[in-house]
Amino acid sequence: MIKICSRFFSSLCGLLFLAGASAQSLEVTYLANAGFMLKSGDLVAIIDGILERETYGMYAALPEAVYADLLAGNPPFEEVDVLLFTHEHEDHFQSAATYNYLQKHPDTLVVAPPQVIDRLGIDNDNVISVWPEQGEVLEHNAGGVQVELMQLSHGRRQHADVENLAQVVHLGGFTVLHLGDAAMEEFSFGTYDLGQRWFDVVIVPYWFFKSAPGQSIIKRQIKANHIIAAHIPPAELDEVKAMLAKDWPDVIVFDDTLDTRTF
Ligand SMILES: [Zn+2]
Repeated sequence: MIKICSRFFSSLCGLLFLAGASAQSLEVTYLANAGFMLKSGDLVAIIDGILERETYGMYAALPEAVYADLLAGNPPFEEVDVLLFTHEHEDHFQSAATYNYLQKHPDTLVVAPPQVIDRLGIDNDNVISVWPEQGEVLEHNAGGVQVELMQLSHGRRQHADVENLAQVVHLGGFTVLHLGDAAMEEFSFGTYDLGQRWFDVVIVPYWFFKSAPGQSIIKRQIKANHIIAAHIPPAELDEVKAMLAKDWPDVIVFDDTLDTRTF
């Protein structure tokens, strides 16, 4: 459109361009735990959302009927371009469920760290293993969904060996940052200068809001139009919502699977 804009038509073209831009929106749908579906236009990504089983005695799975719809490709799961996974812990990635999904939807791409891909046990061109160096950002175009991948440590102790991929998902001109289970280590965030960037949506584990190191990261390293608190055990949902309403009133919390916010 820009190319055909002569000086004479520039104001009209500007209006058309604005109208086109405003028609595009981003839908964020809560699935379970830290799992979300992101949609804009024709592009659909699911991140950490193929969850058949509850985990660790506290984290939610998809309700049975929703899981069945996901596997069958019923609404709202008709056209999923890419499955993204931040790390191999089973509250984010369940290998059998993901394997079963891909048997039914072999055209859906997968982008994940090597530990996830190894456990998935599928070796074809649609399954992409990505592991950047510390401080390096790798980019991948997955079916039109552009993803930036960076390693943010899961922690120094018992999870030191877990490959955690924070991901910036670009759809329809929007950017969504999902941290996975990034540890609350400010230097790790500083490596990527995340505080110098502005995101449309950032998905943050809820414990960041409850501790001094996490609060400092949110204030200094996360700049976003909308922040979503995720990974909330259902048994703690009311308590977490009360804490956020008091101290972080702008932070978004989803109550139920398939609840959707449009930005
Ligand atoms: Zn984890």
